Amino acid sequence: MIRRIDDYRGIVDDETIHTIFMKARKFSNKHIVHINSTYQGGGVAEILTSLVSLMNDVGIFTGWRILYGSPDFFSITKKFHNALQGDQINLTNIKREIYEEYNEYFARFTHLNHDLVIVHDPQPLPLIKYYRKRQPWVWRCHVDLSSPNPELWEYLKSFILRYDMVIVSNENYKQNNLPVSQHVHYPTIDPLSAKNKPLNKTIIKKYLKKFGIPTDKPLITQISRFDKWKDPEGVIKVFELVKQEVDCRLVLCGNMATDDPEGQKIYERVVQKTKNNKDIILIMEENNILVNALQSTASVVIQKSLREGFGLTVSEALWKRRPVVASNVGGIPLQVIDGKTGFLVEPNDIPGFAKKVITLLKEPKLAQELGSNGRVHVKKNFLITRSLLDYLEVMNEVLY
Ligand code: UDP
Repeated sequence: MIRRIDDYRGIVDDETIHTIFMKARKFSNKHIVHINSTYQGGGVAEILTSLVSLMNDVGIFTGWRILYGSPDFFSITKKFHNALQGDQINLTNIKREIYEEYNEYFARFTHLNHDLVIVHDPQPLPLIKYYRKRQPWVWRCHVDLSSPNPELWEYLKSFILRYDMVIVSNENYKQNNLPVSQHVHYPTIDPLSAKNKPLNKTIIKKYLKKFGIPTDKPLITQISRFDKWKDPEGVIKVFELVKQEVDCRLVLCGNMATDDPEGQKIYERVVQKTKNNKDIILIMEENNILVNALQSTASVVIQKSLREGFGLTVSEALWKRRPVVASNVGGIPLQVIDGKTGFLVEPNDIPGFAKKVITLLKEPKLAQELGSNGRVHVKKNFLITRSLLDYLEVMNEVLY
């Protein structure tokens, strides 16, 4: 869990490590805090787990607070999340009240004397309204903002306008008519986390066995929360087509984020759809080594998202040199360069997905080449040390 920047020597070049130390020195007396709404499940918790540790290691006092919420609060913020990604929403007064009230309540017992506050995603966005603002505040929004529901956006803007900076995950998520400075940060993965570090064959075998995953047939996997935007039901349709040509297995592995109340329902639907198919294995577990073992073993990794803020799972698979077939949405095309580091398919093109998966299963040399290119691409662009540099830049901009 505890990360030290020295541990990244040999993974990233020495120049990157030196630059981090040089840039961090300036902030050695600064105290900053990250706030989000879940400590596990989903990409944000994943990044913060490593980043907070590293920021402390380079000498910045960095805290992490989790917004407290109830099931009704999280069911509203999940609706907000969906509407920010383009869904309709019935934005009632009661929804606004519950949303704001939990933020106000949290602000009462969470005192912030930091030099900088970084708020992640919509759940804690209104907090800013309930503090005397003594320091810069940055809103880091990780969701796909390419076409947010206009009514919701107008409402959320009343909080966003109080911020000093907004950070989004893609150039086309920047918003028009927002007079707040907007930056783009691509998310990153931690090559040293239990999820991404190299595993030896014995451990991989042990974990696959423990979770009942035979390896006598090629494995296709999608590792994603059971969420409609991740389209697990679409993955099953792709698998059924692939199976007509190549004998293989599908593993759908999805954890539950504590701030996502829809997951259970979607999981149950998927269980109903797959209960008669012995070659589809469903796993609902919070287990990083298992995810690592699956991503390291898969013959093909699918990411069939309909919307995707970034999609860390794609970089995780590429880092392990896996061939990826993924939707051409959100942040995925930054990671999958079609024909070079994997294949991109339009999100609703089920036969198109199946065709590419079949190609990769039948052409291991091509699969290997794409996987190797993927590793190089991730190493250059999507490792956690780059996020650390991005935040040092942010501090430079807002603290001076
Ligand atoms: N994840 C996991 N177990 C699961 C499913 C997902 O640990 O069963 C992790 C996954 O490996 C990745 C993160 O959750 O690190 C998901 O991040 P991503 O950006 O892909 O999607 P998000 O959930 O944030 O929409």
